[in-house]
Amino acid sequence: MLEKLEKVDILAFGAHPDDVEIGAGGFLAKEAALGYKVGIVDLTRGEMGTRGTPEVRAVEADSAAQILGASWRINLGLPDGLLIADHESVMKAARVIRTVKPSIIITPYWDDRHPDHVSASRLVTEAHFKSGLKKLEPEIDSFRPKTILYYFLNRMDDYSFIVDVSDYYSKKQEAVQAHFSQFGNNGLKPLAVLGVKVPLQFIESRDRLWGAQIGKAYGEAFLVRNPVPIDDPMKIWGA
Ligand SMILES: [Zn+2]
Repeated sequence: MLEKLEKVDILAFGAHPDDVEIGAGGFLAKEAALGYKVGIVDLTRGEMGTRGTPEVRAVEADSAAQILGASWRINLGLPDGLLIADHESVMKAARVIRTVKPSIIITPYWDDRHPDHVSASRLVTEAHFKSGLKKLEPEIDSFRPKTILYYFLNRMDDYSFIVDVSDYYSKKQEAVQAHFSQFGNNGLKPLAVLGVKVPLQFIESRDRLWGAQIGKAYGEAFLVRNPVPIDDPMKIWGA
C-alpha cells in the first residue's frame, strides 16, 4: 500500500478521522491551494465514537480530504480509545513518513483532554525521530522531516505562530461538516465533540479569536518545539 503513496510536502496526522479538519483544516486547504501536496493519515477509524460506523466515517473522511484539496488520505487502523505509542504503532507512522518524505508534519498538541490525542502526539513525535534512524528497518531509506507543527483540539494553549486562514475558512467549515455523523444534527440531540455541546461554535469562535490576534478574520495556531527561523522581520512587521 505504501509504495503507491505520492510524495507530499505536508503530512497531517490525526488520532480520529475529523481531527486534522478541526485543528488545521484552514491551513491544509490554504497550502493545497498554494500548490503544495498534502497527505492525511488518520491513526484510527474512530470506531469508539458515539455515532458513526467506521464505514460511514471513512466515506466522510474521503469527502473532507477532497474539499481540502489533499492528494490522498489513508487510515492506519490503530485501535481507537486504546491508542498507544508502542514500537509497532510508531513504526507504522514512521514507514509512511519515510515513503512520502514530507518537509512538515502536523500532529495534535501533546496536552489534551482526550487520551488518544495525547497518544497521537507522542506517537507521531517518536515516528518523526525514528524515521531518521538509518539502522532501524533499513529496507526503507531513512528520512526525517524538518519540523513538526502541533495543532490544537480541545486546548487553547501557548502557540508559536498563527496562520491567516481567512480566505480558506469556508473550505475548513465545509470539510468539518463533511463529518456529518459527528457534526450533523441527524434529528438527534447535538453530540458533544471536543467535550462541548456546541462544537462548531467552539471551533469557529476559537479560530476567530486567533484571527483577531493577528488582525485577520480567521487564524489557526500552531506550536513548534524548535525556534522559528525568520529571514526578514521587516517582511512581517515592516510598513
Ligand atoms: Zn479526535
